[in-house]
Amino acid sequence: MPSSSLADDVRSLLSAFEVDPATLQGGSRLVRSPIDGSTLAEIAETSSKAAEHAIGQAHDAFLAWRRLPAPQRGEFVRLIGEELRAHKSELGRLVTLEVGKIVSEGLGEVQEMIDICDFAVGLSRQLYGLVIPSERPDHKMTEQWHPMGVVGVISAFNFPVAVWSWNAALALVCGNSVVWKPSEKTPLTALAVQALVARAARKFGGVPEGLTTVLVGGREIGEQLVDDRRVAVVSATGSTRMGRVVGERVARRFGRSILELGGNNASIVTPSADLDLTLRAVAFAAMGTAGQRCTTLRRLIVHESVYETLVPKLARVARTISVGSPVAGDSLVGPLVDGDALAAMQAALSKARAAGGTVHGGERVDVNGERSFYARPAVVEMPQQVGPVVEETFAPILYILKYRQIEEAIALQNGVPQGLSSSIFGNDLREIELFLSAQGSDCGIANVNMGPSGAEIGGAFGGEKETGGGRESGSDAWKAYMRRQTNAINYGRTLPLAQGVTFNVEEGSANA
Ligand code: NAD
Repeated sequence: MPSSSLADDVRSLLSAFEVDPATLQGGSRLVRSPIDGSTLAEIAETSSKAAEHAIGQAHDAFLAWRRLPAPQRGEFVRLIGEELRAHKSELGRLVTLEVGKIVSEGLGEVQEMIDICDFAVGLSRQLYGLVIPSERPDHKMTEQWHPMGVVGVISAFNFPVAVWSWNAALALVCGNSVVWKPSEKTPLTALAVQALVARAARKFGGVPEGLTTVLVGGREIGEQLVDDRRVAVVSATGSTRMGRVVGERVARRFGRSILELGGNNASIVTPSADLDLTLRAVAFAAMGTAGQRCTTLRRLIVHESVYETLVPKLARVARTISVGSPVAGDSLVGPLVDGDALAAMQAALSKARAAGGTVHGGERVDVNGERSFYARPAVVEMPQQVGPVVEETFAPILYILKYRQIEEAIALQNGVPQGLSSSIFGNDLREIELFLSAQGSDCGIANVNMGPSGAEIGGAFGGEKETGGGRESGSDAWKAYMRRQTNAINYGRTLPLAQGVTFNVEEGSANA
């Protein structure tokens, strides 16, 4: 039984969620808190046989669930949202303990879950199709949407619960079942969410067994989910390296995938930018969540006329921002997830120096001893967009580049393999509209006078190129969890063919 004050805290939180304490000990997977490196739990991994069974059950659950009217499915999601509202502070704290997010960001993640549940409840009465004019007399064409089947959700450590909800809330109202494989680094928050869903199911009066399940494990169990033909949709969030494997494997069996992969997000600071607002926005976007958001600001492209005003201030913020434990005090920058993340950060900074970069900040900070990994955010002035600047390093490093012409800035912004999020700071309408136009940012998200991070659930979330092309959350992202069916209906007594084709057989021959 792991013993530390954080482990005690986790145990009492999970027991309040009615998670069986026996699941937290004796297993082969150690779950550590990035806050101090202490072991929070030793949990058992789902065996391949149990995963096979869970996927089968999820498939059977789908067959029953799809028969329930969508607004009733929405009622179940409404109850999930109620549980999340009632347990927001406990689940938010668990996110902080398991991932190391500062308290307000842990709570914000749960708020995002509540928001998507609300959205999905409304959506459950709006899964609209079209009525399309037919070219044939006495004919009608319609389009309707049907559920896909089992939706597999593979999630990353950095949004351990919100990503599940973006997928699950929509998938459930659309009539699907959900099998979730959370990150191996964050199974505890997943077990807590599953327990809340079980409560909502009881209040609902029961849902088909296996409608939502959790598989605990790493890559192998993820691959089992990916390869199973009964899993109609695989929504995978994580690194581009993972997405390349998952995307190919799902395509090989003609399954559908929603890929939400790495980003390398940039902001352009134009001469007309409000520099005070820009400074605050850039600090949050680059240093918040210790640089561990897919939408974290990683490259700042600054016009030469404002460079000397803005960049020294940013370097000062990096040198002075509070780095520390998210449970003691009010630090703005918490820990990196593990030692590998710190090593990757230091390797990227070495490469940047070798490529002529000037590094401000970026050093390791001793907060809770050797087994935890805190770092001061780095601001790195680069002569060119080369080496580590075109890669995603999942840590708080902000590379700064200088530009003269807006076209050059947009080319730099687009000149990386990833295409998730982007933004521009300024008040010149021409420059802003150019950035938002087809010749502008090539990303899935393009913001104005704010950083690239911190999306709301109302819009579709996702990005292009090596970010994978998937969209989740708001707008019409729900369509990815449904299959489209086109219906042509003849309510007349003749059989006119489309495109004027004639195909006359002798009258009465059908009865001959
Ligand atoms: P990761 O790729 O290491 O792991 C993500 C998930 O994929 C985990 O659950 C892991 O077990 C699983 N996985 C790994 N290999 C697999 C395989 N071959 N088959 C099936 N599953 C496999 O990512 P991470 O370190 O947990 O998260 C950080 C990365 O996630 C960053 O690149 C970040 O940009 C990205 N991310 C993207 C978004 C987005 O919406 N675009 C959101 C959050 C995080």
